[in-house]
Parts: sequence; structure tokens; C-alpha cells
Amino acid sequence: MKVVCPVCNRLFEAECTPYKLVYNDIMYYFDTEICQIAFSKEPERFIFKCGK
Ligand SMILES: [Zn+2]
Repeated sequence: MKVVCPVCNRLFEAECTPYKLVYNDIMYYFDTEICQIAFSKEPERFIFKCGK
């Protein structure tokens, strides 16, 4: 499964990474530990929101 890292927008295979995180019932995948840490510190910064 191809996924996009929400932090750096890089496309990669979800099966290839040990870095993942569930936030608001959604699983996010990260290409590097650095991206995972950045996301876990400020998840709101990286999650796309529609203008509700
Ligand atoms: Zn990344």
C-alpha cells in the first residue's frame, strides 16, 4: 500500500516502515522516525482539514 508521509509528503510503501501512529482513529504512516516525532509533537500542524 502506497502512503504519503504527512510530515514531508514523501510517497512510500506502508509495509516498509515501522513508524506509524493512530490519531483520531486514523492510522498515519511515516517514512522516518524524525517525521513520526515531529507529528506526535504537533499533529494538528500536519493534518489536512477541510474548512468546516
Ligand atoms: Zn516524512
